[in-house]
Amino acid sequence: MEPKKTFNRSAGVHPSSRPRTSADAHSGARSYGSGASVSHSGARVFSSRPPLGRGPARGGGMRGSGGSGRNGGARGRGKGQHIDISKFINKTVITEEAIIFTPEHLFKDFHIEERLKANILAKGYNEPTPIQDRVIPHILHGEDVVGIANTGTGKTAAFLVPFINKVLLNPKEKVIVMAPTRELAQQIEVELKDFVKGLKIFSVCCVGGAPIGRQISDLRYQNSFIIGTPGRIKDLIERKYIDLSEFKSVVLDEADRMLDMGFIHDMHYMLDLMPKDRHTLFFSATLSPEIAVLIKDFMKSPVMISVKTQDTSKNVEQDVVRIKEGEDKIEVLHDLLIQEEFKKVLIFGRTKHGVEKLAIALTKKGFKAQSIHGDKNQGQRQRALDIFKRGMAQVLVATDVAARGLDIAGVSHVINFDLPETYDDYVHRIGRTGRAGNRGKALTFIG
Ligand code: ADP
Ligand code: MG
Repeated sequence: MEPKKTFNRSAGVHPSSRPRTSADAHSGARSYGSGASVSHSGARVFSSRPPLGRGPARGGGMRGSGGSGRNGGARGRGKGQHIDISKFINKTVITEEAIIFTPEHLFKDFHIEERLKANILAKGYNEPTPIQDRVIPHILHGEDVVGIANTGTGKTAAFLVPFINKVLLNPKEKVIVMAPTRELAQQIEVELKDFVKGLKIFSVCCVGGAPIGRQISDLRYQNSFIIGTPGRIKDLIERKYIDLSEFKSVVLDEADRMLDMGFIHDMHYMLDLMPKDRHTLFFSATLSPEIAVLIKDFMKSPVMISVKTQDTSKNVEQDVVRIKEGEDKIEVLHDLLIQEEFKKVLIFGRTKHGVEKLAIALTKKGFKAQSIHGDKNQGQRQRALDIFKRGMAQVLVATDVAARGLDIAGVSHVINFDLPETYDDYVHRIGRTGRAGNRGKALTFIG
């Protein structure tokens, strides 16, 4: 059970917003200040600037997720140099009194089943976060939705809650949720399980690296939710254990990643197998115009809802660490990690090999360090993440395989030991801290 958390204005409320009155309740975009916007219907949405973040930090993001053709954790090249250093610095974080976000709805106001409401409350979610507040009514109406909100602001429940309700109303309804990494798919299933406790709604998590035999036998039962990664789901479709024509509801979490070059063909293949009148939801913290154009191919008249007021989570203080000529990066890292405040540190490196090497070097220096990257088998990946989650290791060294979506409680610092390839990658990496209203720090090593 989580303690009650209040999402402060970093979660999307403009400083000038006054407390919401009922007259404001239906005013759409204005209520969240300049960062929030709602657009209806199809192509027109994307002909102008999509309603994303604002401010000077957009350039890198634009180039960002467009097409680096990434694969798992191995990127090979260090392209991060093109990102303006000023974008790694944001020291003016939450020194002001937090303005309390006032949602338009409470969970009890949503037209959802009482049993589901009870489970939401039991999980410790007392009121909706801004993205939940805004998108849940649209999803309950059956609209296709693109939901954009900063990292760590509750996008998972924003799609799970209305789709669970759909299943409660019609037990034949089947939902498929796709995510770019195994760990994220597993995490989504854990959250789903909390929400469906006692409701007789079942799920299978279909991810690579885990025994397929077990997934195949689980698929024989009546499951309302399949959650997984594209590769394994495709495999199970080809082996005829999953029939996508039965699925009328689909979520792409981390949608921009799912639609970039690494996954786009699989996405086309799978979405084409689903019924034409399906209900489609896309969620992410970042969305480049290139991807926004693609969304037209996959959705009908989507409602775009963005509750971002800036690119990165406002709860994350950001700074750079300048490595001087001849200085050893690992020594610099050492001097940081020995400081008291560096309690739970997620360190990103560029290559699988480099990440492993760094974890070994840190272990030799006496730090409790784990590593996660694509060269490890799934058991090793899961174990490393688990140890770090439980606070048994101070450090987790990772490739970008851990950059998207992972919700690890209490990460005090994210350190970019190697530069991220794109600004969007940066946004996701540092979004592993400063989640659910907590604060965090991000440091980027620059040469
Ligand atoms: P995102 O997908 O936007 O990065 P998550 O869905 O992973 O964010 O949620 C981030 C954290 O916030 C999680 O720990 C989750 O349990 C918590 N959370 C989500 N919604 C609420 C809520 N309404 N009230 C309190 N905590 C919440
Ligand atoms: Mg998420």
